[in-house]
Amino acid sequence: MIVVSNNKYDYLIVGAGVFGSVCAHELTKQGKRCLVIDSRNHIGGNCYTENINDIHVHKYGAHIFHTNDKKLWDYINQFAEFKQYTHNVIANYKDEMYTLPFNMWTFNQMWGVNTPEEAKQKIESQKFKGEITNLEEQAMSMVGTDIYNKLIKGYTEKQWNRPCTSLPPSIIKRLPVRFTWDSNYFNDKYTGIPIGGYTQIFEKMLEGIDTLLNSDYFQHKDYYDSIADKVIYTGPIDKFFNYQYGKLEYKSLRWETEKLEQDNFQGNPVINYTDSEVPYTRILEHKWFDPQSQKGTIISREYPTDYDGTNEPYYPIRDNKNTDIYNKYQELTKGLDKYIFGGRLGSYVYYDMHQVIAQALLKIMSFNQKNYQ
Ligand code: FAD
Ligand code: UDP
Repeated sequence: MIVVSNNKYDYLIVGAGVFGSVCAHELTKQGKRCLVIDSRNHIGGNCYTENINDIHVHKYGAHIFHTNDKKLWDYINQFAEFKQYTHNVIANYKDEMYTLPFNMWTFNQMWGVNTPEEAKQKIESQKFKGEITNLEEQAMSMVGTDIYNKLIKGYTEKQWNRPCTSLPPSIIKRLPVRFTWDSNYFNDKYTGIPIGGYTQIFEKMLEGIDTLLNSDYFQHKDYYDSIADKVIYTGPIDKFFNYQYGKLEYKSLRWETEKLEQDNFQGNPVINYTDSEVPYTRILEHKWFDPQSQKGTIISREYPTDYDGTNEPYYPIRDNKNTDIYNKYQELTKGLDKYIFGGRLGSYVYYDMHQVIAQALLKIMSFNQKNYQ
């Protein structure tokens, strides 16, 4: 039995993640009546953090807010106080430790070079110089074969469960290559972690808004559609259209989380394991995102898994084949005025949080423009 305070809404919002929560918040501010539903037992989507012994556990993987856009930074800061945070990632390749992303520290650790000129020469001597058609070629053109073999190939093939030669170059272009001694994982002007975790952000965004958890849209689709004028859908787009053009591919993940008595397990929030033999891709030690002399520690080993329709579709695999399928679904959305699609899964794009906020705010602006026409 569904119990809601209104029996008619302006908007039904499927998904209490970033896209759904920003839409709900902004539309409610404009006087619209919104109902948010989520199939999970919590709000926040993949950004959800759980407070365990004052450690904010990133239940769906390490989340660092980063953006170059001051407006988006100010936007998210309305909902939590952020601490300035520089994300430093360490790679462990067969117990050799390297600094990521690729910067002078990495080049020094890999080759013993001390100057940008020496590092550039080393890369030049082993870089791929042909036309780039896949991730392997892209990586080897950015950093050469040594770094590709030790820090990229094993990690990427574990993560995506396919050869680097059949992955799109765009995936590796996310990582900076710098000829400075700056090991900040992100290039952005604004980078931070919300003090007290991410969940409070969603609590504030959804304050006073009807929200139903443990509620799958597809279980009562006709009913949900009947109680709202418009539906904002942030789940997988292929599922919405009943897979009529075939299934889109996603990558999934799973985490094995352990509470430990010791206060310091690895001394860093994230250590990547880049060789192919270690079955996990990284270990997170959650307390280091926001250390406050908490006792004990909590770690999560992150294992890539295939998406099989029963687990969570975390990463869209936007290669050519899947993009063709996605484009067909996107065509179908055009005639559907009642339904609005957005977010990582609704758009089938490997978006970060700030990009999803921007997409949601733009979408709301476009509704307003339509209303004025
Ligand atoms: P989601 O968070 O996926 O929310 C969608 C919601 O819809 C979910 O809660 C889901 O349960 C619900 N839903 C789906 N189908 C239904 C249905 N049928 N009925 C009801 N509810 C449904 N971004 C960064 O900016 N920085 C990072 O450091 C970062 N790290 C990441 C690490 C990992 C491992 C992952 C997976 C993602 C990371 N991201 C990061 C990306 C970030 O998680 C996403 O950009 C953001 O969560 C997308 O928000 P969303 O609302 O589109 O989707
Ligand atoms: N990557 C890698 N080695 C690493 C870290 C990342 O080869 O140690 C590659 C891998 O292909 C990954 C991509 O870079 O999918 C993007 O990395 P990022 O850390 O941005 O991925 P995410 O945090 O979204 O999983």
